[in-house]
Amino acid sequence: MKLIRFIHKGREAYGYLKEDRVEFLQGGIATGFKPTGDGAALGEVKLLSPVMPSKAVCVGQNYLDHIKEMGNEIPTEPVIFLKPPTSVIGPGDVIVRPAISDRVDYEGELAVVIGKQARHLTQENALGCVLGYTCANDVTARDIQQRDGQWTRGKGFDTFLPLGPCIETEIDPSALAIRTTLNGKIVQDSCTDQLLFKIPMLLSFITAAMTLNPGDVVLTGTSSGVGPMVAGDVVAVEIEGIGRLENRVEDM
Ligand code: MG
Repeated sequence: MKLIRFIHKGREAYGYLKEDRVEFLQGGIATGFKPTGDGAALGEVKLLSPVMPSKAVCVGQNYLDHIKEMGNEIPTEPVIFLKPPTSVIGPGDVIVRPAISDRVDYEGELAVVIGKQARHLTQENALGCVLGYTCANDVTARDIQQRDGQWTRGKGFDTFLPLGPCIETEIDPSALAIRTTLNGKIVQDSCTDQLLFKIPMLLSFITAAMTLNPGDVVLTGTSSGVGPMVAGDVVAVEIEGIGRLENRVEDM
C-alpha cells in the first residue's frame, strides 16, 4: 500500500493511493488506519510529508562509493546523527538555501518509516517495527558541516529534509534502484544493495541508544555523486517501487 498524507479542502488527512485516486483513511501511524469510504482524485489533494517524525536518525558514510568520494576511511560501525523535525518538508515544497552557506548539496536516500515504538531491537526482530519506506533528501550545507566539524547545523536547517511522496508498506528494501536527478540529469545512480550497514543492523544499532517512536524516520545514507544545488534547480529522488520526491531550490 502507498500511504500518503495530504490536505484536501483545508483538512489534513491520511489516505492510500489507488491508481490516480486517493482513498481516505482515519487514524494515524501510532493507532492504525481505517478506511472512511470517501476519496478524491489525486489531483485534488496537496501532498504533505507522509510523516512528521519526532526525530530523523541519519546514517553517514554508508555507501562505499560515497565514502571514497569524500576521502574518508571505511567505518567499522555506523556513524549516526539527527536532523530536527523542523527540517521536514513535503513533495513539491521549496528547499531554501540559507544566506550563510555557499554550498548546499543534495543527498538522495532511502528512509525507513517506523510504525511501532522500538527499543533494544535485535537484527532478527528489527524489521517488525517498520511501517514502510519513503524517499528522502538529506540536504546538507557542506561548507558549514566541514567548518563545524560536526553535523548538527550543516544538516539541520529548516527545509533540509524533504520526505515523500508516499510510504510504501509492502516492499523489500534490500535491492531497490535509487537515483537522484538535478534538472532532469541523473547525478546519483545506485542500488540499496550497496549499503555497507544493512537496515536490520542499523535499527539494532540505533535502538541500543535511543527509542524509536511511530513516525520516526531512519535515513540510510547516500551513494556517490553528491553535489551542489543553486536557486532555480529542481532536484528529485526516485526509488524503485516507491516513487519520486521532487523539490525546487530557492535562495533565502
Ligand atoms: Mg546523508
